[in-house]
Amino acid sequence: MKREIWFVVGSQFLYGQDVLDTVAARAEEMARELTKVLPYPLVYKVTAKTNKEISDVVREANYRGECAGIVTWCHTFSPSKMWIDGLRDLQKPWCHLATQYNREIPNEEIDMDFMNLNQAAHGDREHGFIGARLRKPRKIIAGYWKDESVQNRLAKWQRVCMGVCASKEMKVMRFGDNMREVAVTEGDKVEAQIKLGWQVNTWAVGDLVREMAKVTESEIDELYNEYTAKYDIATDNLAAIRYQAREEIAMKRMMDRQGCRAFSNTFQDLYGMEQLPGLASQHLMSLGYGYGGEGDWKVSAMTSIMKAMGEGGNGASGFMEDYTYHLVDGQEYSLGAHMLEVCPSLAADKPRIETHHLGIGMNEKDPARLVFEGKAGKGVVASLIDMGGRLRLIVQDIEAVKPIMPMPNLPVARVMWRALPDLTTGVECWITAGGAHHTVLSYDVDAEMLRDWARIMDIEFVHIGADTTPEKLEEELLVKDLIWKLK
Ligand code: MN
Repeated sequence: MKREIWFVVGSQFLYGQDVLDTVAARAEEMARELTKVLPYPLVYKVTAKTNKEISDVVREANYRGECAGIVTWCHTFSPSKMWIDGLRDLQKPWCHLATQYNREIPNEEIDMDFMNLNQAAHGDREHGFIGARLRKPRKIIAGYWKDESVQNRLAKWQRVCMGVCASKEMKVMRFGDNMREVAVTEGDKVEAQIKLGWQVNTWAVGDLVREMAKVTESEIDELYNEYTAKYDIATDNLAAIRYQAREEIAMKRMMDRQGCRAFSNTFQDLYGMEQLPGLASQHLMSLGYGYGGEGDWKVSAMTSIMKAMGEGGNGASGFMEDYTYHLVDGQEYSLGAHMLEVCPSLAADKPRIETHHLGIGMNEKDPARLVFEGKAGKGVVASLIDMGGRLRLIVQDIEAVKPIMPMPNLPVARVMWRALPDLTTGVECWITAGGAHHTVLSYDVDAEMLRDWARIMDIEFVHIGADTTPEKLEEELLVKDLIWKLK
């Protein structure tokens, strides 16, 4: 579905029709100009002057699937009691853009007529009060609408709205259960559906095996050709690649039939399969499907949602796992990878398809997988955990580097990074917060976006960044624990 964000401008009748006409024309112009630079259209809807006009536009926004959120702004003053009914009923994400049409105060021109028309500083405060009074979650962006920094933040918020849409529509297909005895990959699926909209259900591995049997050789040829166009072949074991293609086609078919955008599996349950899906899962992730290993449906759904929040609706985000550290003074890094399944959207260069023995799990044959190095650059890792009674999203800022050594015998894709504030303090903070070993690593979704997403979804958010200390974090978590028990 094509998504758009609606632009609703507040005013009142006090100023006369000329002023209202000017406000409407300018609002339309702003929406048109902003649409040119934003990832999703900003559609001007109404200059609202009454309780009914506001309630009507909110009701329509709630109902229309293409409307992913609303941006409000008060060019003039808009008494906020007439916003109460509408905002109370609003079910879509809300951004209050505190801007004004003109950048400068015009020294010669300014008189009371100008002041009547251009009083956003005044109107946006009244508008802000009612948001605060209603305890309504909202994003507030202040600044001049033509400034790049304001436009970038609005663009990021639009992407958050796409993450909200993706979450509310999320269906996860689980093949097998969680890895035995693992705690952090567990969670309350009912709570996840209530809060996040996720439908998480299980299909038998046998269903997948049956679907795999139906895949034809010519269908495999076609996907094999797609692999060879995208990746370098660095193995003689072409049968393993073809087997992965068979797995991918079958999994995609089952997911598409059910409308699923994410899946999980476990190496402990591969009955009837020769290989754990490696290349198959990696290529599906590159198409925007979420994946989580060892039955981790939470990280799987988050992978797909964060991809939807990224560039072009399928950004550089992927399932990741902290594996091992390099703890040399001044060169402290975390090495992330997985058994096989690292998304090629994280790759610095063209990935290679390799086959290697995989000792863990029920693999009868060597699985084909994509091997590559992750990109250098700023990013985040995110982990959604179930605290019992609530969900907590933990986000840590990271700086990924080109891996400092080639590691020629490591048979999987790898990403190397330094967690903030520094590796070991960052690890202490992460462990304090209860963050999982599984994360979503992203280069194009940042902490601000995930904070906005968590606010909209009404779940706890914890950010570990340059200024975090374990002491302050511990206090923050104690306070949040109390707050979330009361909520
Ligand atoms: Mn794992």
